[in-house]
Amino acid sequence: MIILSVETSCDETSVAITKDGKEVLSNAVLSQIKTHERFGGVVPEIASRAHIEMMLYMFEQAMKDANVTVKDIDLVAVTQGPGLIGSLLVGINAAATFAYANDLPIIGVNHLIGHIYASQINHEMRFPSLCLLVSGGHTELLLIKDHMDIEILGTTLDDAVGEAYDKVGRILGLNYPAGPIVDKLAHIGEIKYKLPKPYLKNEPFNFSFSGLKSAVLNLVHNMKQRNETFKVEDVCASFQDVVTEVLVEKTYAAAKELNVKQVIVAGGVSANKGLRHRLVSTITDFEVIFPEFQYCTDQAAMIGIAAYYQNKIQQAENKYGIKGTSSLAFDHFKINS
Ligand code: ATP
Ligand code: MG
Ligand code: FE
Repeated sequence: MIILSVETSCDETSVAITKDGKEVLSNAVLSQIKTHERFGGVVPEIASRAHIEMMLYMFEQAMKDANVTVKDIDLVAVTQGPGLIGSLLVGINAAATFAYANDLPIIGVNHLIGHIYASQINHEMRFPSLCLLVSGGHTELLLIKDHMDIEILGTTLDDAVGEAYDKVGRILGLNYPAGPIVDKLAHIGEIKYKLPKPYLKNEPFNFSFSGLKSAVLNLVHNMKQRNETFKVEDVCASFQDVVTEVLVEKTYAAAKELNVKQVIVAGGVSANKGLRHRLVSTITDFEVIFPEFQYCTDQAAMIGIAAYYQNKIQQAENKYGIKGTSSLAFDHFKINS
C-alpha cells in the first residue's frame, strides 16, 4: 500500500510517500526555521502563510523523489492535530483536495502517534512497549499495548522538555530552536553547577521542567550581576545532565514496573545525543529504540507510517462492525495545543 502523507502542524511543510508502513520512498521537508529565527520562536500567522506558498511544490517534490504518479497512490494521510490551527488547516485542506480530486480515501493522523511510529521505520515495535515521547510541545510516558492502543501514564505538569531546552537556549543567547545547540555545547562543557532535580516523588510518571528552567535563569542572572565570567557550555552541560537523568530514571522505573518488552523514544528531543547515550547505558536490560535522526523532528514520513497501521485497524473495524482501538487512540490524544 502506497500512502501519500502531509504534515504541517508547526513550521515544517512536508509531504512523504511511504510503502506498507515501513519503507520511506520519499520525504520532502521544508523547514521555515530561517523565517522564524529572528522572532525567537514560531509565529503562527507567518507559518500558515509559508505553508500555503510551498504546499503544492512539496506534493510535486515528494512524488518526483519517490518516482510515483497519482495512479500509484492508495491512500492520503494528513496530520489532524495537535498543532497550530492555521498551519494544520493548510495541510488538511491540501490533502483533502488532493484526495477528492483523485478519488482517493483520506485519513487524519494524530501528530504524536506519528512521532511514536517514526521508529517503526528502522525497528519493529514489540508490545507492550513503553514510550518516552519528548518533543517541543509534549513530554509523555505512554504504555503502548498494541497498534493504536495507547494509554497515557504521565505527562508534564508545565513545560515540555523541548520547550525547556529552547527557553534555556534563549536565556543563554542561543538561536531558535536551541535544543540541538544546547546538546552540542553540553558535550564540550563541564557539569559545574548544581541545579534542582525535578523528580516529583509522589508522581513517578509525571514531569516538571519549569522550576529547572527558572533555576538556570536565576543562575545566569546572578552570575551576570556579579560580573562573574562563566562558560555557556558549562551551563548547558549542567542543565542537560539534570534533564537526561530525570528522563532516564523515570523511564527506567516505569519500564520495570510495567514489565514492557521494549522502550521507544520519540519526538524531537529523541535526537539528543546525551539522552540517547544515557538511555542505552542505563537501561541495559530492555531493548531501547530511537528513530533515525532525520525522523526525530517533524516530517510527513512518520505520518504515513502511522497511517498504515491506523488504516489497517479501521478497515477491520468497518468490515466486522466491531469497535476496535483506533478511535481510542484519538480519545487519549485530545488536541491540546
Ligand atoms: P510537538 O511534536 O509536541 O507538537 P514539535 O512538533 O514542535 O512539538 P518536534 O518537532 O518533535 O516538536 O521537536 C522539536 C523540539 O525538539 C524543539 O524544541 C527542539 O529544540 C528539540 N530538539 C531537537 N533536537 C534536539 C536535541 N538534539 N536536543 C534537545 N532538543 C532537541
Ligand atoms: Mg519545527
Ligand atoms: Fe512534533
